[in-house]
Amino acid sequence: MWGCPKNRHSSGLAGWRQTSDPGALTALRLAAVRTGLSVSEAHHAILGVTPVLGAETLTTRGAQGRVLAEPVFSDRTLPPADCSAMDGYAVRCADLAGASASSPVWLRVAFEVPAGAQADRTLESQQAARIFTGAPIPPGADTVVKQEDTDAGEGGRVAFRVEPGSRDHVRDTGEDLRSGDRVLEPGRVLGSAELGLLASLGRSVVAVRQAPRVAILSGGDELVEPDGDPSGGRIVSSNSYTLAAQCREIGAEPIYLGIARDDPDDIEVHLRAGMRADCIVSSAGVSVGDHDHVRPVLEKLGCRLEFWGVEMKPGYPLAFGGFGDDPSDRRPLVFGLPGNPVSASVTFDQFVRPALRKMMGHKTLFRPTIRARLGEGLEKKAGRLHFVRVRLDRDEAGELVASSTGSQSSGVLTSLTAAQGLLIFPADETSLVAGQSVIVQVLDNDVFGGHSAGF
Ligand code: AMP
Ligand code: MG
Repeated sequence: MWGCPKNRHSSGLAGWRQTSDPGALTALRLAAVRTGLSVSEAHHAILGVTPVLGAETLTTRGAQGRVLAEPVFSDRTLPPADCSAMDGYAVRCADLAGASASSPVWLRVAFEVPAGAQADRTLESQQAARIFTGAPIPPGADTVVKQEDTDAGEGGRVAFRVEPGSRDHVRDTGEDLRSGDRVLEPGRVLGSAELGLLASLGRSVVAVRQAPRVAILSGGDELVEPDGDPSGGRIVSSNSYTLAAQCREIGAEPIYLGIARDDPDDIEVHLRAGMRADCIVSSAGVSVGDHDHVRPVLEKLGCRLEFWGVEMKPGYPLAFGGFGDDPSDRRPLVFGLPGNPVSASVTFDQFVRPALRKMMGHKTLFRPTIRARLGEGLEKKAGRLHFVRVRLDRDEAGELVASSTGSQSSGVLTSLTAAQGLLIFPADETSLVAGQSVIVQVLDNDVFGGHSAGF
């Protein structure tokens, strides 16, 4: 029924309304959507209906972390002329033949070329020109002697203690770029070097992929905001903080919709506010509990659920759907994440993050994985893939060792704050033994750093 908007309120739905048995009700409600997907099937279903967003023009300064949406060509040659790579003297090589520390050659300093000056004066034989880094080589000169190899003398004369080679310390015209060069391709992530390059080309604005807007909704009568009163068994809604931060970490724009009470009208008001976003992320959202009203409200608004339930831990009760009939763009995409804080964060990381990165135009959608040695053995039942929160430490040989951060309960957020990676415990495996090689998704790039550079 979820797959058929025209027929949305047909017999299947009537069927579960007539039963009072919650188990039967659950089974009927789930019958129409795919359930129990593997992690990779879920990725496939999500990314298949996730579009790459359009382009927008930003100031180069404001484009950090965005993905380039245009090819960038150079409209200039850099450096525009032969120029000096050192502070020193521009000279004619032939004038310094045989110069050495014991037998220096003296030349007269005829003029000075500061950085930013024009090279409009010609250097004659037996002359030196004082020159600074980045300044153009004057006509007539064919090499640069760095200041450290000279001694200034009386009356504007200078002694050269070395015999230079031709074009020593000279940066060639166009060594960096030639006018017309294609210098950056669409799809390139704009990091510090790219922003500097754009600036050096005189580009103060640049076309980039839009950043997705992500509407974040929390749901539950038990929830209070962090500055609210948590007495009487209420629970602080921390998920909106975690999820908004996970959006910002990748440059997506979170929009907080607040806490919806377990009431269809209140949920509808909150969800409607998210309909113009690219993506709606609801936590404690689409489950099958008696108090779950999110799913019927989504359905009423025209959302078609693609699947419910992924064979993973933490995070089985993940729901995913979308709006509209364009099979390659079902925005707003809707992710109903489980409510438990670790499950919400891990399912965001595994499924929402790659979808947002695809929207932003990134080519690499998933976190990097490494191989590490397992610190102590792990066991589980076959059937679900486990993402085990692990620390990554280096042993004496410098090899990375993965060890569990403690309780893997989905409510224990401290075991996520302590984690530097998520160990992939494959669905079909039941035990991993200490010392064996395991695959770990890296959450914290600092594991690759050290206290000193090590060289
Ligand atoms: P539910 O998915 O509604 O069954 O919730 C599972 C657990 O997650 C319950 O203990 C909820 O109180 C908790 N939970 C739900 N939403 C949030 C939230 N926004 N922040 C923190 N915990 C939550
Ligand atoms: Mg709830």
